[in-house]
Amino acid sequence: MRRAIYPGTFDPVTFGHLDIIERSSRIFDEVIVGILVNNAKVPLFSAEERLDMLKEAVKDRPNVRVMSFGGLLTDFARAQEAGFIVRGLRAVTDFEYELQMTQTNKVIAPEIDTIFLTTSLKYSYLSSSTVKELASFGSEIDRFVPEHVAQRIKEKYRL
Ligand code: ADP
Repeated sequence: MRRAIYPGTFDPVTFGHLDIIERSSRIFDEVIVGILVNNAKVPLFSAEERLDMLKEAVKDRPNVRVMSFGGLLTDFARAQEAGFIVRGLRAVTDFEYELQMTQTNKVIAPEIDTIFLTTSLKYSYLSSSTVKELASFGSEIDRFVPEHVAQRIKEKYRL
């Protein structure tokens, strides 16, 4: 069984993330989307909210599961018996950080390989931060995130 973890903050999930999820679900037997909690960033959405939004977004994909995790990614991957980590690459700016993280993970967990999927061109500009910034100024975000996610973001900024 080829099982992969797709880790991230997903604050919130965008069409860019969903594109990577869809493509990796065709490569692997099972994909676990791992929502990182307790990281240095202070998220807009709680781990529970991020989990809810992601579960709704992948509900029609039978080989995709969503979980949250804290601590080391390699510990989580080992606990889930996943041999692969999937990450998305948008631009060169992502590369240096990703390379360093991958090499570190390879030292501490040599049996786990990281696979990079380059972003689909139409989503290469898209990030959770951009979506949040646009929404905070009242701009429409329906092109960037699923409808149920857009609704949640709008509610946050209305409060
Ligand atoms: P992190 O804080 O771990 O970078 P993110 O939730 O921002 O978490 O991203 C998770 C993963 O998804 C990362 O590998 C990131 O490069 C990738 N990703 C984010 N946005 C896109 C996009 N528009 N297209 C492809 N990959 C993306």
